[in-house]
Amino acid sequence: MELYEVAIIGGGLAGLTNAILLAKAGKKVILFEKNQYPFHRVCGEYISNETLPFLESLGVDIIQQKSISLTQFRLTSPKGTTLEMPLDLGGFGISRYELDFFLMELAKKNGVTILEKTNITSIKEKNNTFFLTSNAHQKYQANILIAAYGKRANLDQYLRRDFFYKRSAYIGVKYHLKVNHLKYEHPKEMIALHNFSYGYGGFSRIEDDKYCFCYLSTRENLKKSGDILSLEKNILSKNPYIKDIFENSYFLFDKPKVINEITFAPKTLFEGNILMCGDTAGMITPLCGNGMAMAIHSAKILSENIILHLDKKISFEQCKQNYLSEWNKNFKQRLKIGRNIQRFFGSPFLSEVLVKSANLFPFIKKILVKQSHGKVF
Ligand SMILES: Cc1cc2nc3c(=O)[nH]c(=O)nc-3n(C[C@H](O)[C@H](O)[C@H](O)COP(=O)(O)OP(=O)(O)OC[C@H]3O[C@@H](n4cnc5c(N)ncnc54)[C@H](O)[C@@H]3O)c2cc1C
Repeated sequence: MELYEVAIIGGGLAGLTNAILLAKAGKKVILFEKNQYPFHRVCGEYISNETLPFLESLGVDIIQQKSISLTQFRLTSPKGTTLEMPLDLGGFGISRYELDFFLMELAKKNGVTILEKTNITSIKEKNNTFFLTSNAHQKYQANILIAAYGKRANLDQYLRRDFFYKRSAYIGVKYHLKVNHLKYEHPKEMIALHNFSYGYGGFSRIEDDKYCFCYLSTRENLKKSGDILSLEKNILSKNPYIKDIFENSYFLFDKPKVINEITFAPKTLFEGNILMCGDTAGMITPLCGNGMAMAIHSAKILSENIILHLDKKISFEQCKQNYLSEWNKNFKQRLKIGRNIQRFFGSPFLSEVLVKSANLFPFIKKILVKQSHGKVF
């Protein structure tokens, strides 16, 4: 059996960024992805510009070629009260379908072995080597293991991670669409966050004249409504901006992409010697974005330390210690604030108060924008 220096479970932004950086540094890397590229994911597809210099340094030129620059923000309350402001740092819109596929190809070009349709189902560690088994009973081995399998997966149960056993209240739904004539004008460079009772949805442009509409709500809201269609008709569409989107757009998927059991509970950065990265290490609420930037940034921090370790400049313990302290410095507080603000937005009353007060007091606008973006890395 071939021995890899690093194995990565999960080919989202965290897994692929690690793979590219490690391969560029000459390391022998294998990455497992249970799906086949390209594929859609439930995600609002707004990426903060804090990632731009880093992605450009990797050679991710698809951003120049296809993405849409997003510089304006609109927040609406469930009743349709509106707040607008420029985004200082801003971001860009591109589908995960395109972006992840591009990164996967880039990883391959740099020498990463990528196994698609390969679901890792068991992990054993012996004598500083990890032994992995896939659903097809294939076996693989590596010295270092990165778990970047996203917010919640079979392996969380396999590893008996605490959060897996606590039920989570949130569901996510996503569409790609083309708009006809919206009643409420939505400029190309705008990202809108539309609130509704017990949820909110992001609406912004992606490549090829398409829009992404992705919302987060609660299981309870869905249960009360019966099904997704009724939820959208009876609850989401009370917000006139969302009603406008549903009535005046052409939906490009046969059916919505839906995920459930989304949890923002704190997680651990390590399970034994397994190094967790991206959402597997901790997920920020979409409201307080931005998970994609965090997935990419945390992968950068992790792989830089793994490279130092593999080049025998630091021990494995030191590698873990550095990753932990840099992760805490960059993300711990952001995740905590995200969890608190998330509560605020469930309530129609409080979100109405927030939009009205931010219109009156500009400093609130500043705080909102600051909390949803990190620093350029
Ligand atoms: C409703 C919603 C809206 C969002 N909107 C935004 C947004 O607009 N902007 C933003 O920045 N962030 C947003 N996020 C967050 C963002 O999507 C995540 O933070 C980001 O995708 C995390 O990347 P990741 O690489 O950690 O995980 P993922 O992108 O989830 O990748 C994990 C991969 O692991 C694979 N996998 C899982 N288990 C296995 C296994 N056993 N074997 C092999 N492969 C496996 C999965 O198939 C998947 O491809 C949103 C999230 C939600 C839920």
